[in-house]
Amino acid sequence: MSASMPRIRQLDPSIVNKIAAGEVIERPASVVKELLENALDAGARRIDVLVHQGGLDLIRVVDDGCGIAADDLALAVTSHATSKIESADDLFHVQTMGFRGEALASIAEISHLFVRSRPGGEQAGAELYIEGGKSRGVAPASCAPGTTFEVRNLFFNTPVRRKFMRSTATELGHVSEALTRIALAHEGVRFSMNHEERLVTELPPTHSWRDRIRDLCGEEIADALIPVDRSEDGIRIHGFVADPSLSRGNNRLQYLFLNRRFIRDRSLSHALGEAYRGLLLTGRYPIAFLHLEMSPDLVDVNVHPTKLEVRFVDSSRVYSLLLGMLRSRFLSTDLTAKGRAVTGVPASADGSPRPLSGPSHFQEAAPDSTRSHPANLWGADRRAIHASAAQAAADSQRRPPAWTVPQLPDLPVPVGGSTASTEPLAPTRPPDATPSASTLGSPAMQICDRYLVTETQDGMVVMDQHALHERILYEELRTKMAAGGLDRQRLLVPEPVELTAAEAGVVLEHQATLAELGMEVEHFGGTTVLVLSYPAMLANLAPSEMIRKVAAELCDSGGQAERGVLLDDLLHMIACKAAIKAGDRLTAHEITALVDRSYLVQDAHHCPHGRPTTLVFTREELDRQFQRT
Ligand code: ADP
Ligand code: MG
Repeated sequence: MSASMPRIRQLDPSIVNKIAAGEVIERPASVVKELLENALDAGARRIDVLVHQGGLDLIRVVDDGCGIAADDLALAVTSHATSKIESADDLFHVQTMGFRGEALASIAEISHLFVRSRPGGEQAGAELYIEGGKSRGVAPASCAPGTTFEVRNLFFNTPVRRKFMRSTATELGHVSEALTRIALAHEGVRFSMNHEERLVTELPPTHSWRDRIRDLCGEEIADALIPVDRSEDGIRIHGFVADPSLSRGNNRLQYLFLNRRFIRDRSLSHALGEAYRGLLLTGRYPIAFLHLEMSPDLVDVNVHPTKLEVRFVDSSRVYSLLLGMLRSRFLSTDLTAKGRAVTGVPASADGSPRPLSGPSHFQEAAPDSTRSHPANLWGADRRAIHASAAQAAADSQRRPPAWTVPQLPDLPVPVGGSTASTEPLAPTRPPDATPSASTLGSPAMQICDRYLVTETQDGMVVMDQHALHERILYEELRTKMAAGGLDRQRLLVPEPVELTAAEAGVVLEHQATLAELGMEVEHFGGTTVLVLSYPAMLANLAPSEMIRKVAAELCDSGGQAERGVLLDDLLHMIACKAAIKAGDRLTAHEITALVDRSYLVQDAHHCPHGRPTTLVFTREELDRQFQRT
């Protein structure tokens, strides 16, 4: 045998378990998911979860399920031990959440695991303690029927994984999300979750899915749900989708359950997006809670270690069933008028504006919109409150409403050193020396309600009004931050905003950073946060919308620990939200104010999202196009 040839050997079971753990147990939330699934498979009607330190110190799951016989206890925590399937054939008819028989073995390998269980029919129970995969033996125990798992010191012997753990709040957010996914699919089961001494969630059992959704995701969402149900060829899709007036900046509120198992499926998310096309503004995602039911042999759930992704035998059929169902539902729900309005075709056949029902989905449109519907009235109320708050608060300067260009002149001293005018609406002329402003010639003109066109010495420039304004605001925000922070506007009456647990987790974790940006938030209890103030620049945004946007931004940056990166992301977001939109008609003054400020943008050609702000057409180019040369 050559000296360099490696020897092949059977891996030690402990290594096998560690490898499996690496796949299945990514963070404390994964443990919670596995333990909850086991409890449900055991027929539990009530499940109580307790976590300490986001689950890194302790995860305890207590259920009232069928229990584990004393004789089976030691076996249950060894790898490939399961009561759920016997033969390979069973794999294609799995009705339980688990079947791989590796979760407990994996968890036991990388933690201090304590199990105590008593089957319903037995007089007494038994307990087992395992430390890093080493069993300390089974002992008799007296306990109530059911099973208790306690997982302590997760990842104590896998330091690399432990290092990847984020803050307590982030981990707690993931744990809450794991519970949400499972509790949503099992509304008949009672759940509770405590974090240390605090009760985070309490979910009474119910027959109504909408009630469970309400308990987990809040009134606003529950009230906007449209029921849907359709079956075809042995596949049924049913549940709820939210009225397009309610949407999110990401797809996290799209809960899809396949045979009561939470799944992620790109193709089905795409179908959802398609169904809402024209009903939502770009960048917005529908909210949906959907059950897919089909015979287990129409789908392979064994393609992903945590079963998050599945493979449908006929995925195009599922896709078109979902899309078809939603399209016909929307037609019969008469959302057409709203859809038209969003895409900018406001009139009905007789030319009169169509009445809009339900809450507004124009949150992102100009607030001076004359359409009268509840949310806009509410928006006006809020501005009134802001206005009186502004007067009451001696620390706040008088400023015009912040949602259109008039706020521009109010912003900080340009880098060039000239003083910004404090007169609202007065266009500010930068000194002649400043670069691009002096090169702009005749006054700009707005076309298509979204572009500004002006002449320069070399030819013509076309600016995207939103991209340009966004970029200007971003530069100004950075200057402000460097000078000590953004102007804040206090709410006269602090506003409670109900978030998902994960959102609340990240928002509270970054409380200090948000405060620097003028967004003061406090924990209000449960998953509700209290908004005390907001950046003055974002007066056009409802605090709830602002906080959700922030939460999404924070989640997207993956719990980014780096403060600088985070702040920058948030500044981009604020700039984007505060900037005028495509479709906003501007007055001549506003156009001038905007163009005059374009010199603030050192690299004026890209908005923070990387889209260009400005296109230049030189005279030479125009000549060439017109074949003058
Ligand atoms: P799987 O769920 O894939 O079967 P696990 O490692 O998660 O594998 O669990 C192993 C076995 O332990 C299960 O098949 C089940 O018999 C038993 N078990 C685990 N948790 C519970 C529980 N809470 N109640 C009753 N039995 C349980
Ligand atoms: Mg399991």
